[in-house]
Amino acid sequence: MGTLTTKSKRNGKPNDESSVPASQNEAWPTDDAALLERASKVMPGGVSSPVRAFRTVGGTPVFVASAEGPWLIAQDGRRYIDYICGYGPHILGHRHPAVVQAVVDAAQRGTTFGTPTREEIELAELIRSEMPHLEMVRLVNSGTEAAMSALRLARAATGRDKFIKFAGHYHGHADSFLVAAGSGAQTLGVPTSPGVPADLASHTLVAPFNDLEAVAQLFADHGGEIACIAVEPIAGNMGMVLPQPGFLAGLRQLCDDHGALLLFDEVMTGFRVARGGAQSLFGVVPDLTALGKVIGGGLPIAAYGGKAHLMAQIAPSGPVYQAGTLSGNPIAVAAGLAALRELIRDGGAAFQRLEELGQRLENGLRQVVQQRQVSCQIQRRGGMLGFVLSSDPILRLEDVDASDRDLFNRLFHHLLRSGVHLPPSPYEAFFFSIAHEEEIIDRTVEAFGAAFRAAAEDDPESPSTTP
Ligand code: PLP
Repeated sequence: MGTLTTKSKRNGKPNDESSVPASQNEAWPTDDAALLERASKVMPGGVSSPVRAFRTVGGTPVFVASAEGPWLIAQDGRRYIDYICGYGPHILGHRHPAVVQAVVDAAQRGTTFGTPTREEIELAELIRSEMPHLEMVRLVNSGTEAAMSALRLARAATGRDKFIKFAGHYHGHADSFLVAAGSGAQTLGVPTSPGVPADLASHTLVAPFNDLEAVAQLFADHGGEIACIAVEPIAGNMGMVLPQPGFLAGLRQLCDDHGALLLFDEVMTGFRVARGGAQSLFGVVPDLTALGKVIGGGLPIAAYGGKAHLMAQIAPSGPVYQAGTLSGNPIAVAAGLAALRELIRDGGAAFQRLEELGQRLENGLRQVVQQRQVSCQIQRRGGMLGFVLSSDPILRLEDVDASDRDLFNRLFHHLLRSGVHLPPSPYEAFFFSIAHEEEIIDRTVEAFGAAFRAAAEDDPESPSTTP
């Protein structure tokens, strides 16, 4: 705004077209490839977050202009049934009227205050009433912040530096979490990304998901040094992978035995796999929980919380520092409140509806893969579905690594051409919403059938299979 004013004054023509940035006047290219090329000149990879660039599946991402219910509407007018749902937040579908109205109303009251508001209390109380283990909550702006801050708290509360994470689990891009397994559970973490100090990464211990013995061994070797276990209770960043019976309870026990804390990262699963998140499904109580995505209704908000005596250590009530200029932003809080209220009203009918629709999608996809004689492992809870092209059970990251990723890529592009937009990676779960009504689900299942037929006719070696 400052630039515009200065320019206008200099030109002496405050309201003429010369005061409008050039990009608003010129004709935009309509094809995605031209847009990507232009974007790539000013943004790394042409995107604001890596998976959007289609590097895993190849081809060009769809530039979206708007969305509605279960639909993404591209800038060239094509419509896609959306199984990304903003990577999780849109459990009510895009542009739910209650959320949109709340955003408009909040914006009219002010965009940010830097002061406490009544609505933050309402959101924190609502989260606590649905997830009672979050006795106190701190609002932040992203899942990355939530997980990072919860880890800092766990380290501070225990006075220990090391922690355990699982290979293939994603907790945002804070340095300590950007660490993958070497070979086997005993490996001290090595950074996944340049820029993460090796010294810091050495405090991150990595185990395979669903491997309690490996975790027990890490405790045997480093017990007195481990602050917490950070886990996605249902893994959602290596496809979707359920915990094996007893796994989460085993983690709880190991933490208790060794004075460590249990941190559930429910940024993805919170209010998506069930009303009370994954922690309501398995009877295991974490000490700390990270939330995001659904609790913001599509706006940037996340939270971490847990036992009151732990959360009391966060500044200003305690010494563990964590702050944010836009934390508890009134527009984001309003959107989150509206979304959660919509989800839980009428006794949580939305979750029942989500379950019906999810079951229909799951059944349909199971039927398709059976008919096409494709090896596929489907796992689902609530509005999240894992679809891994493999004949083996999917328990840990290597199982997804060993899946038929080439077939996934071909399937992805056939589906995209027929108007179904999956997440562009076999490592992402499919997300859907209560706006994905029966007709939408049935169209999806039909499109999968056709896509499998077309993929079978492709020559897998041909570069044209990933346009
Ligand atoms: N934790 C989990 C389980 C996630 O899936 C994600 C993002 O997908 C994050 C944390 C990071 O959240 P954000 O992208 O909002 O920083």
